[in-house]
Amino acid sequence: MQPPFDGKIWFWPAPVPGICFNEIMKRHFALGVFLYFCCVLPSQGGGFDMLRQNMVEEVLAEVAASSPYSGRDTLSPAVITAMKKVERHHFVPTWLAMFAYLNRPLPIGYGQTISQPLIVALMTDLLQLKEGDKVLEIGTGSGYQAAVLAEIVKSVYSIEIIEPLGKEAAERLKSLGYSNVEVRLGDGYYGWPETAPFDAIIVTAAASHVPPPLLKQLKPGGRMLIPLGAHFMTQYLMVVEKQTDGSVTSRQIVPVSFVPLTGGH
Ligand code: SAH
Repeated sequence: MQPPFDGKIWFWPAPVPGICFNEIMKRHFALGVFLYFCCVLPSQGGGFDMLRQNMVEEVLAEVAASSPYSGRDTLSPAVITAMKKVERHHFVPTWLAMFAYLNRPLPIGYGQTISQPLIVALMTDLLQLKEGDKVLEIGTGSGYQAAVLAEIVKSVYSIEIIEPLGKEAAERLKSLGYSNVEVRLGDGYYGWPETAPFDAIIVTAAASHVPPPLLKQLKPGGRMLIPLGAHFMTQYLMVVEKQTDGSVTSRQIVPVSFVPLTGGH
């Protein structure tokens, strides 16, 4: 039975008959819930672990839905394990950490974005990586894609053109223990000739064409994933394969939206 109205605001449904929440108690309760979700849960990692597992489930469902275009109805076990392991909340600004496990791109400063988890997973999967591979990434950004790659292959080389982003990503990757990632500042259009050739190359900014230096630095039998197209126009994710005889084939996968590959080239 509801108690008679006494001017106080009752918590509904009342957890214990006769206990009410007045305005001050309500504010304390709301503050407690807020602090729990924003501070306690994330600091324990428990909340984020659960959100990350849910994110991977969502990514898998979307991969299956886009299989008519991508030709992949699921992700390889190595990619699933990496996506479940890499803690995306470390790669976004602190104030966006609560949104880190939405299947969305997020701003990382300097007009750049961390890619959508679905795209990170799909690109990594399409590279068909092997444990001993050496991979080149163009566009380090936050370092998230590099970390996902580093969970799967032996070594990752990543180039970033915006100095503060590159420096922050290098420090972040180091502090998270990714000792098999090397970050360099510069124009990725020209690749990393000193460490070439690479088993796989991933370009995470949209280019107007496949940069010839990158094609040259790809091993015969290797694969490159690159979004092609102009900024604000339809871009397509492409798989470029260098055959063992040196000939090159390419295949269009899905329409995508990436920030542009900049630089003086
Ligand atoms: N892979 C990143 C997201 C990439 S956003 C992540 O996981 O967070 C694209 C990045 O490419 C941006 O950081 C941008 O500064 C960088 N970029 C653009 N043009 C580049 C170029 N010519 N060489 C190297 N990096 C470039």
